[in-house]
Amino acid sequence: MSVLKAASSRQYDAVIVGGGHNGLVAAAYLAKSGLSVCVLERRYVVGGACVTEELSHGFKVSTAAYVNSLFRPEIIRELRLRDFGLELLERNPSSFTPFPDGRYLFLGPDQAMNRGEISKFSDRDASRFSEYEAMLNRMADFVEPTLLRTPPDPLSSNPRDLLSLARLAKGFRGLGGDGYGLIEMLSMSAWELLDRWFESEELKVTLATDGIIGTMAGPLTPGTAYVLFHHVMGETNGARGVWAYVKGGMGALTAALAQSAESFGATIRRNAPVTQILTENGRAVGVRLESGEVVSARIVVSNADANVTFRKLVNETELPSDFLRGVKQIDYSSGSAKINVLLNEPPKFEALQSDGVGPQHRGTIHISPSLDYMQRAWEEAEQGRPSTNPILEITLPSAIDPTIAPPGKHVMGMFVQYAPYSPRDGEWSEASKDAFADRCLDILAGYAPNTRESVIQRQILMPTDIEREFALTGGNIFQGAMHLNQLLFMRPLPRWAKYRTPVRGLYLCGACTHPGGGVMGACGHNAAAEVLRDLRRRI
Ligand SMILES: Cc1cc2nc3c(=O)[nH]c(=O)nc-3n(C[C@H](O)[C@H](O)[C@H](O)COP(=O)(O)OP(=O)(O)OC[C@H]3O[C@@H](n4cnc5c(N)ncnc54)[C@H](O)[C@@H]3O)c2cc1C
Repeated sequence: MSVLKAASSRQYDAVIVGGGHNGLVAAAYLAKSGLSVCVLERRYVVGGACVTEELSHGFKVSTAAYVNSLFRPEIIRELRLRDFGLELLERNPSSFTPFPDGRYLFLGPDQAMNRGEISKFSDRDASRFSEYEAMLNRMADFVEPTLLRTPPDPLSSNPRDLLSLARLAKGFRGLGGDGYGLIEMLSMSAWELLDRWFESEELKVTLATDGIIGTMAGPLTPGTAYVLFHHVMGETNGARGVWAYVKGGMGALTAALAQSAESFGATIRRNAPVTQILTENGRAVGVRLESGEVVSARIVVSNADANVTFRKLVNETELPSDFLRGVKQIDYSSGSAKINVLLNEPPKFEALQSDGVGPQHRGTIHISPSLDYMQRAWEEAEQGRPSTNPILEITLPSAIDPTIAPPGKHVMGMFVQYAPYSPRDGEWSEASKDAFADRCLDILAGYAPNTRESVIQRQILMPTDIEREFALTGGNIFQGAMHLNQLLFMRPLPRWAKYRTPVRGLYLCGACTHPGGGVMGACGHNAAAEVLRDLRRRI
């Protein structure tokens, strides 16, 4: 018996480092197939960036991620998440964009409403909008099935890769002319894409937010059209592209996942930070916790990002130098901040007044009046400065979910672009964070003047805080940028996109793998499938 096994508290088939939503998905599938599984999460709560925390008595805040549509419905079914309390609350209208001149634009799942709303700004755009959505839907029909599959490597001559490539090529041919559009989309900017379709600034800027969200890029940066597309995939209760709140906050999704994994026999341990992934003869054999305890396993699956996994947890001497060089080159830049605010009353928009909650509060509220405004915000960030006029994506989930705030009170999430990780005029301090949050609230107050007086409490998360709280390198919300050179068979690195790593028995299952960031569950599902394939079992 090795020294390691003698010292360890228990031997599992699989130990999972990190209880983010992907780690939990992987745990549930592995346990479901009969393996003994232990999840080790460093925080006091599982969920990673998909979590709900009580900021003050009765106020439940989705600390990081705040809306869902990407989470794969197949996983909801197979892991019986509805039986464990998962409930998705559709948002209709799904977005509200007020403008400084007092006009506003609603968009949502109702096509007749969309036509009426868009025609306030352009009749031409109103007639083209459903065609635009249909084009995105056809592309999504092609891309979505690839999400729950390991990406084939186009340079490999392995029969499995060749078969998978042939299947992809067949599907791609089925796209007809949209195929060219999809390739263009991978490299175009969101602004260029939207300019091809629409003339109204108000519609374009509302749609463009999806292209820059969570991304250190501006609306004119090549590749942002793909980020926009990434955000229109997904569904809610069968309706394509519809974003939902999770009843009880995003943490209710990961709580359901944890219960599902436990129902299949998985052990989940919180407050269990892993400090080292242990190897013997080039093979992962377990982990060491901060407490010194050793948990041994036949395989180790890391839900942490590639930088954390390979530069903090694995001994670098176990890794080929070109692999390590590749890990060091992964783009983790971020300009996203999250400000969670507890409110005495909902924002009262001058553009659309209501007594209490109205339709303007149900969906995402966009504060970014023009593409030029967006571009200027980006240009400052590119120079290393927080945007003077940041882009605000605001949600008020308590408008349709009474379980997350005391009666009459509200929780508001502000997802803000851009707040660079390392501002050139000085690192983030409590004073500069407060000043930035004040600026964001002032901008909102320009549209809804009651906001400032209504604030009970706020929580400010800059990229540095996101990195510290969630172990997300650089504060990058996707565990690595979603640029073309870090997607598909290049995610996290070329030749290593099949969830395996240079250390035998060590796998990755987080958003750093295909198909990337967002609360999708696909990375965890695909990683579990590859582990089981190596163990000659089926998912
Ligand atoms: C501010 C913000 C807003 C977002 N908004 C949305 C949104 O609205 N919708 C959406 O779909 N996506 C959103 N995202 C993106 C999405 O939340 C992430 O891409 C996704 O949650 C990643 O999940 P994951 O399980 O792969 O990794 P993570 O959530 O990063 O989980 C990794 C887990 O590993 C743990 N861990 C790391 N190191 C160790 C260690 N040494 N020992 C033990 N545990 C460890 C971490 O604590 C964490 O729990 C947002 C992200 C952020 C940060």
